[in-house]
Amino acid sequence: MASSEFSQRDDTVVSAGSGSSSLNRRDWLRLTIGASAGLALGSLVDVKAVRAANENLKLSNIREFTTSCNFCSCGCGMVATVRDNKLITLEGDYDHVVNEGSLCVKGMSMFPTHASPQRNQVPRYRAPGSDHWEDITWEDAVTRIAQKIRATRDSTWIATEKAGDTNVAVNRTDAIAFLGGAQNTNEECYLFQKFARLLGTVYVEHQARL
Ligand code: SF4
Repeated sequence: MASSEFSQRDDTVVSAGSGSSSLNRRDWLRLTIGASAGLALGSLVDVKAVRAANENLKLSNIREFTTSCNFCSCGCGMVATVRDNKLITLEGDYDHVVNEGSLCVKGMSMFPTHASPQRNQVPRYRAPGSDHWEDITWEDAVTRIAQKIRATRDSTWIATEKAGDTNVAVNRTDAIAFLGGAQNTNEECYLFQKFARLLGTVYVEHQARL
């Protein structure tokens, strides 16, 4: 499960000249590279003009947030850069204890997946026998799911079971299962468990064990 939600880095490098009293490894690398480049080029170029030109670069005027990769339960750390509430880059977090900056191919594909125009934005429904999907509203989706859960639960409900010579109350259904995902936070998993038990299902599993 994901270990954390988005959190802004305390020592975010927003633009040239922003101060920070403590340096992490990522910032140290940046400053080292920047300082080396500055020493080499300082006497050759107009630094003010270069700084002005930097305003249009990909990573100028951004804010950085730490987050976790959502694809599996390893919880690799990532750094997201955001400008005007739009995600600009996603990369491995060199200061994260799990992955130390590296990402597997799934983690590396997170950004294009996030920005893909093929990503579903609304629920979709394919009617029985139909050969195509149609967009439906969230209200419609929730209503359909609730009706199916109710009908399944009612028709498969087991109130009691024999234990020796007596019937004991079990109050469950064996026809519904819950499947959690690596994207779910601890709090969401707690609610999943509550909801599953409320419905009377004992089958709760995690996507990583499939
Ligand atoms: S980068 Fe790969 S190993 Fe790490 S959490 Fe994402 S999917 Fe899992």
